[in-house]
Amino acid sequence: MEYIGNIEKMLTQLDDNVKYILPIGEERIEMNQYIGKQISLQFQNQINCVACGTKTNKSFAQGFCFNCFSSAPEASECILHPDKCQAHLGISRDMQWSINHCLTPHIVYLANSSNIKVGITRKTQIPTRWIDQGATAAIIIAVTPNRHIAGIIEKYLMQYYSDKTSWQSMLKGVSNHVDLSAEKAKVKSLLPAELLQYYSTSDDITTIKFPVEEYPVKIKSESFDKTQNVEGVLTGIKGQYLILDHSRVINIRKHRGYLVKFTI
Ligand SMILES: [Zn+2]
Repeated sequence: MEYIGNIEKMLTQLDDNVKYILPIGEERIEMNQYIGKQISLQFQNQINCVACGTKTNKSFAQGFCFNCFSSAPEASECILHPDKCQAHLGISRDMQWSINHCLTPHIVYLANSSNIKVGITRKTQIPTRWIDQGATAAIIIAVTPNRHIAGIIEKYLMQYYSDKTSWQSMLKGVSNHVDLSAEKAKVKSLLPAELLQYYSTSDDITTIKFPVEEYPVKIKSESFDKTQNVEGVLTGIKGQYLILDHSRVINIRKHRGYLVKFTI
């Protein structure tokens, strides 16, 4: 079977093992069934911006042409620095977009993706965000009415926790035991009163299992910017990465908008 189209980040479903679906053009390919099998991804030397569709020689911020990177709300500063989001002041590249994406309930969480990290996301992005980061467990710390306040809480907690995922450790399946309930209780004692009002009383821990048969040992990261063909036996999927034999991985999200021929 052969499919050609622009790829998008993989869609996911929380199940016993996470289910992954690769969008390629109009097709939606269920990927779990190909674990243990030979697959081939061949870059067709064309990238289309995920916002406007125009051809671009280089992708900015995971899928945008330079023009959209400079103007699209999806690529604005508040995405990388939520505490600088100004939508609540009526300032945004696109107010309608911000009403839907910034001025909606957000959560602050702690997740374990090999190491403990703090993060924020829109409430509707749970558990998608955790799956995309390859987290094996996560707990909600706070629920806020908008992105800005979630960003302030995250920034405060960055004094105590990293906001980064160590993607190589995550892909190697390194798991340091973290007691998320205990860490959450610790956060409660750290937060100042004006932020404590958003503290979540729900102590549910979401656990996530990924479909991985074999973890890479010494990771070799593949990219269509360097290699046209990425092929081999798919040994697992974690976060937004396909894991291939011989310890190779490819970040699908990084290649949003790339025109690819997928052969199985
Ligand atoms: Zn564009």
